[in-house]
Amino acid sequence: MALKTADEYLRSLQDGRAVYYRGEKVADVTTHSELGVGARHCAIDYRLAADPHHASLCQVTENGRTLNRFYKTPRNADDLLKRRELIAATTQAGRAIIQLIREIGTDFLFAHAIVAHAMKETLKAPYHERLQAYHGYLAENDLAMAVAQTDVKGDRSGGPSEQEHPDYYVRVVDRRKDGIVVRGCKAHTTSSIYANEIIALPTRALADADADYAVAFAVPANVKGLRFIVSPLSGGSKSAFHYPVSSRHKIYDTLTVFDDVLVPWDRVFLCGETAYAGVLALGFVEFHRFTAISYKLPLMDLMIGAAMLMAEANGIEKAGHVREKLSRLISYRETVRALTVAAAHECALKGPGVAVPNTTITNIAKQYFAENYHAMVQKIQDIAGGLLVTGPGEEDLANPETKADVEKYLGGKKGFGAHNRLKLFNLIRDLFASEIGGYHELLAIHAEGSLEAQKITILRGFDAAACRSFAAECAGLDL
Ligand SMILES: Cc1cc2nc3c(=O)[nH]c(=O)nc-3n(C[C@H](O)[C@H](O)[C@H](O)COP(=O)(O)OP(=O)(O)OC[C@H]3O[C@@H](n4cnc5c(N)ncnc54)[C@H](O)[C@@H]3O)c2cc1C
Repeated sequence: MALKTADEYLRSLQDGRAVYYRGEKVADVTTHSELGVGARHCAIDYRLAADPHHASLCQVTENGRTLNRFYKTPRNADDLLKRRELIAATTQAGRAIIQLIREIGTDFLFAHAIVAHAMKETLKAPYHERLQAYHGYLAENDLAMAVAQTDVKGDRSGGPSEQEHPDYYVRVVDRRKDGIVVRGCKAHTTSSIYANEIIALPTRALADADADYAVAFAVPANVKGLRFIVSPLSGGSKSAFHYPVSSRHKIYDTLTVFDDVLVPWDRVFLCGETAYAGVLALGFVEFHRFTAISYKLPLMDLMIGAAMLMAEANGIEKAGHVREKLSRLISYRETVRALTVAAAHECALKGPGVAVPNTTITNIAKQYFAENYHAMVQKIQDIAGGLLVTGPGEEDLANPETKADVEKYLGGKKGFGAHNRLKLFNLIRDLFASEIGGYHELLAIHAEGSLEAQKITILRGFDAAACRSFAAECAGLDL
């Protein structure tokens, strides 16, 4: 098998995995009244791949087999640009809500291909071959993956072995003939309950004392001892009128608990090599931030489109301050897009010939997106007006006693009757002033690493020595 249908994918999630939601154990995530929405949302990825209109984007042929393009290791700028296009297309099909059932997993595979290659050369470590075999297994079976990197971390000022108890970071508690036993908990694992495979890796650089925490591995989502505690806080509602996007498209994140899970050796990709933990953690986020700036595009498109339509509906599209806001939204989108394309074009070939997007440019794009996101949301909220959060409900349009009032009083510019205007308010509120709106704000700031992480990488990655020498020369310094 090389390409699964959406139905086959959904059936593959009915495997007895231990999922807890709002205090209850969930028998089947695909048929659950709330979590089922997220399962169908993730299935979009498989539906798109099977759609003949998207075949050339979603599929590749390797060694005579048709595979999903997500599994293709990027070898040059063109591969990265195609990957970017694919990420944007799947996100657009999900109405700007990400699925992330392949992107983050393959970010790990690409990053670790480089690290494991280096470990093979320096330590004769077996991880490179294991990883290649695992990559082939995922591609051949068209599997969905989630990545659990972020540990719960406890006191942020200390490393893993300096914590109040030893399980604030995932660690190896036993090394056996048949594999390792891991214990601990990762936080914020996106789409884990919709994945076939859970991949774990270290979240930070580690000291020699932290050898048990230097661990990377993969397990099936239904493995014994693995529990998912799903967050209900990403919002969304059942009303398609009030929540036109999030009622149908939903993302869930979990606390992912490894309660003495046995990992066979062929699924262990790092075990005790502390010197490589930070290298892998950082290498992964470099790919992951490129994914991030790629999946932001449909959301920025919706920002522009919704702001334009709302301005028209309110009859303010020609006002100077509105044109200024629209131009800022467009500049915002185009800056992130241009930086993403530049990061792909200025990629570097590393390890066994993997094309890595330009690190500095990728981080600048991610930081620019995140630091300006709230300001851009403010512009849309400003154009929309207060009815965004004070408008009447769907039921008031159905009730004959209030319907006429709503239709008469909530029209805008000629041509934009109350119905259309309310639909626009609902779209904007759903994405930018609701629980999912708050989720997007947090996603911008923290997902793929907090703002500080990007700043540190920018400072590290840019060679400022030439700038310093130039300034010293201009100043006539005698250094
Ligand atoms: C919506 C969403 C989805 C996500 N999806 C995933 C996922 O699929 N997989 C995954 O592994 N992770 C995921 N993440 C996790 C994301 O990478 C983290 O949220 C991010 O790295 C920040 O970590 P944290 O949330 O623990 O916050 P913290 O690390 O606690 O950060 C809070 C603040 O503390 C600061 N800080 C932290 N440590 C220090 C220190 N030592 N010294 C000084 N300041 C410090 C930070 O800079 C920040 O300002 C997701 C996050 C979000 C919000």
